[in-house]
Amino acid sequence: MLGGHVSISGGLDKAPERARQATCDCMQIFSKNQMQWKAKPLDLEEAERFKENSKRFSIKETVIHDSYLINLGSPDKRLLRQSREAFLDEMARAKHLGVRNLIFHPGAHMGAGEQAGLKKIAESLNWARTEFGSGDVAFVIEITAGQGTVLGHSFEQIEKIITLLNDQKNVGVCFDTAHAYAAGYDVKTRKGYERTFQTFEDVIGLEHMKAMHINDSKVKQGSRIDRHEQIGKGFIGLDGFRNFMNDKRWESIPLVLETPQGEKGYRSELKTLRALRRK
Ligand SMILES: [Zn+2]
Ligand SMILES: [Zn+2]
Repeated sequence: MLGGHVSISGGLDKAPERARQATCDCMQIFSKNQMQWKAKPLDLEEAERFKENSKRFSIKETVIHDSYLINLGSPDKRLLRQSREAFLDEMARAKHLGVRNLIFHPGAHMGAGEQAGLKKIAESLNWARTEFGSGDVAFVIEITAGQGTVLGHSFEQIEKIITLLNDQKNVGVCFDTAHAYAAGYDVKTRKGYERTFQTFEDVIGLEHMKAMHINDSKVKQGSRIDRHEQIGKGFIGLDGFRNFMNDKRWESIPLVLETPQGEKGYRSELKTLRALRRK
């Protein structure tokens, strides 16, 4: 299942056709403007049209990425409250859109320290689950590049958050190839790739893998900087993506592009990726 992050300009219901035109089987969207705290309430008719169009344009699965403003690990009380409320709204929007997997960057500790930050993130998620009151929307924690005080750049940190959750059933992980590579994981060489996912299995468990972001990296392995590059033009390169495209373990999860050209580039990038599959 290959696709990309598509724009919702003109309405959420416009996204499925856009994705189909870019030859996506699946897609990722923001459920609102990702750079604003407040959004007008979700239009339920628009949500229905979104679901109809997803069927009509054969989009097999949609995942939602939350707003970049949210920091569930913030040590600042006001920002934390704002983040939690916004996150809860993201969950409600996902539910109305019929989307189960809500992908988010776990958060940044802003100087409070790694352990304090991880604990705060888990507390936020526990709060959100209680407020939301159901398991209809799953928390999907994205691995990060580890820039600044951003957490979630190691499998151990992600596992730590998961262990602190009251609800262990509705949580998963999104593996971003560019972030993982920048965080230090080798996914480029055959050996490194195998070691990376053996470690993932040992530390987190493969059953938790719910989605992937397929991005090349503008920066070297271990740079701890988040810079996506077009497929084949970065440091991971086609050899690296060949590993992913031929791994049966990811056949039933959405693999979505978040590359710099966006929808304009997806058609050719998806073609490149599909061609890497061994017949
Ligand atoms: Zn990503
Ligand atoms: Zn990124």
